[in-house]
Amino acid sequence: MLKYLDDPDETPESGNENDDVTAQPSDAYISEDDVSDDFDDRTLPVEVDPQDMDSVLKQKIVGLERRISYLERIVKVGHMLNSVLSLEPLLQIIVQSATELTDTEACSIMLIDKNTGELRFSESTGGLTDALRELIIPLDGSIGGWVVRQARPLLIRDVKSDPRWHDNVDEALDFETRSILGVPLQVRNKVIGVLEVVNKNGDEGFNEDDIQIATTLAAQAAIAIENARLLDELQQAYRDLSEVDQLKNDFVSIASHELRTPLSVILGYATFLKDNVSGQASEQLEIVLSSAMKLRSLIDDMVNVRHIQAEEIELSRSIFSLKQLVVDLIDEFSDIISGKNLILTKKFVPDNSPLNIDADRQKVYLILANLISNAIKFTPEKGRIHINLELKGHKYWLNVIDTGIGIASEDYERIFDQFYQVEPPLTRKYQGMGLGLAITKGMVEIHKGRVWVESVVGKGSNFVVVLPSAPDVQDT
Ligand code: ADP
Repeated sequence: MLKYLDDPDETPESGNENDDVTAQPSDAYISEDDVSDDFDDRTLPVEVDPQDMDSVLKQKIVGLERRISYLERIVKVGHMLNSVLSLEPLLQIIVQSATELTDTEACSIMLIDKNTGELRFSESTGGLTDALRELIIPLDGSIGGWVVRQARPLLIRDVKSDPRWHDNVDEALDFETRSILGVPLQVRNKVIGVLEVVNKNGDEGFNEDDIQIATTLAAQAAIAIENARLLDELQQAYRDLSEVDQLKNDFVSIASHELRTPLSVILGYATFLKDNVSGQASEQLEIVLSSAMKLRSLIDDMVNVRHIQAEEIELSRSIFSLKQLVVDLIDEFSDIISGKNLILTKKFVPDNSPLNIDADRQKVYLILANLISNAIKFTPEKGRIHINLELKGHKYWLNVIDTGIGIASEDYERIFDQFYQVEPPLTRKYQGMGLGLAITKGMVEIHKGRVWVESVVGKGSNFVVVLPSAPDVQDT
């Protein structure tokens, strides 16, 4: 006594009313003797034979028990679906659960391909054959297509008499379909596929419970499928990203290696020639030399970054004066500093100490050189730069402070990534490859130190480095 709704457009001409039924989600499972969850005594006739009432109540209790039992099973399946994150095993569980819960011979899941929009088999009882995998189910004129287009369940008791039935699926599966119940897999009003259970076991055929069970299961399955697909896409995006990253590393590796040797030759000849010529030729060679040195410094940066990334860096420690290193570096940059009319100040605390450190001098040099050269580069003419070095407990606190262009807080972390530059590389007015801070960070961290920036756009930046004065010093 189910209330089935025939679809006016789709009902087969030869269709037998009892066999071909389409079901509306809201109406399909309402039967006249249906058991209402909010059953109320007051709805009973006023004068009822106590025996009749007894049997009505018993019927209702049996109905309720039946519903509770399948809801319990569906809740269990729901838990299982939520715990599986890969699409393939998830689809297998759905297929298995659907056949068990509806007591049917088989189940198939068809999903809409996000790229092509085609409806294809994604899982089926007994696994997917190649033939099945290749089948495209037309969205018009097929059972699966009907469920997708109408976004509602469809129950066909005798598929052979339905024009939407095509036996190519049976051929591909070597199977005989007699009856089908298809329900849409729907996420947020969007149909992503169809779940079909096939051939109800026993003589009675599909009933209202089957429609309810399949619909409830499909609702949970659709969310789990969508989550698994999103996770798949995310993992694929990560794989693509790390492939690109690997390509970039390979490129950096090959380029730096291939450029180094010819550049050494250029530098060697240019130095030799410069020492042996005079006048205009010497000036021109000076330009060649300085350009070649810049190129070498870029290549050195690339090599350093590659080493940091491959974790191939080893420390060659010695005890040296950090104060002296700062002084030497300021001296090295003095021409550019005065060329830009910058005012550079420095402060050492305590100022009567050499501020010795047990570290890798060459690497600490790179840390300081990168920070100071950035401060010079990103500070407009007549700006100020201040370098502060202070021993606090067993750690050195170094600040390189400038009155330059500043950095927005959303870039505080990213500027330490390789090749990251706040300004787009093609339109930027500052030179560089975006490697200096990545190298700085790598070199600081290998000394078990920390580096960060505090900045205000348009006002200036304060790069802070904290370095242990010796290996394994205790935090103070
Ligand atoms: P590069 O200087 O070669 O571009 P870095 O890794 O040294 O590469 O710096 C990355 C980016 O961080 C720079 O391109 C710049 O946008 C920003 N930056 C670094 N230092 C400063 C600074 N002192 N003031 C303003 N921006 C800076």
